[in-house]
Amino acid sequence: MLTQTKLTKEFVDCLLCGKQGTRRFNSQLPGVVQCDCGLVYTNPRLKEECLKDLYSREYFESHSSEEMGYDNYVSDRELVEKTFHRRLESLEKRWLPKKGWVLDVGCATGFFLCTARSMGWSVGGVEISDYCCEYAKREFGINLFNGQFKDLDSSRAGVYDLVTMWDYIEHSFTPGRDIEKAFELLKPGGIFALATPDIGSLPAKIFKQNWVGFKEHEHLYYFTKQNLCALLEKKGFKVVKTSYAGKYVSLGFFAKRLAGYFPWIGKVLIQMSNWPLFSKINFYCNPYDIVYVVCQKPAADTSHR
Ligand SMILES: [Zn+2]
Repeated sequence: MLTQTKLTKEFVDCLLCGKQGTRRFNSQLPGVVQCDCGLVYTNPRLKEECLKDLYSREYFESHSSEEMGYDNYVSDRELVEKTFHRRLESLEKRWLPKKGWVLDVGCATGFFLCTARSMGWSVGGVEISDYCCEYAKREFGINLFNGQFKDLDSSRAGVYDLVTMWDYIEHSFTPGRDIEKAFELLKPGGIFALATPDIGSLPAKIFKQNWVGFKEHEHLYYFTKQNLCALLEKKGFKVVKTSYAGKYVSLGFFAKRLAGYFPWIGKVLIQMSNWPLFSKINFYCNPYDIVYVVCQKPAADTSHR
């Protein structure tokens, strides 16, 4: 877990243009800057050496997910897997008629991989958190690569049919290198799918500093649909679909999120969600602020990186 003594920070140049952004994006958000090129990112940010401490067990059981991490990721397993089943099914229908190898980057406890395996896929995963790697090994018998994606060796280059990054790239210290790595590991014609908070979305614009996408320390990059797609294409991918990603949520989770924007209504719903009759309710919810991008590695390698 992070303690104040471990909060060592560093200044970084813009990922997209190389200049150093210093202009504050919002006066209420110290540490979030906007570069002249438009990219919004955290500067200064925690040093990479803090990563293991940040993504500890406490991160996945924080009980205050509006500030950091997840309330209790493992107890949400059923809903997380239901969401992943829906996403993979839709990818299969349109782009992946044959099952093959999938690599999930930033796969947490491996719920996506467990789902994919039950749907007939061969699976691999990358995860920084020791806690999650131990969980995936114990519960699913899946051996994850316990480290940063950029450090995964390239012995399986050109093997994967699908690479996924669900709510990962905003946490990455090296999104550009990660996209290059995904490109390298995919087969020609392979699919890369990712989802990340969109700072250009309507909810981000309306709720400003209260937008749930802002997370101190853990979110390092705030992409827009436009600059994310431009980066993907610069690295050689062809963007084939953009939309917004929803997920299955409990009434309790929905109420807590709503309370962040509309405290009075949210608090009433939080009370209701504790009633036995309502506690089991879940539904598919799309807040239209998580951009979902599907892109393809060209069948013939025409990368111009
Ligand atoms: Zn820039």
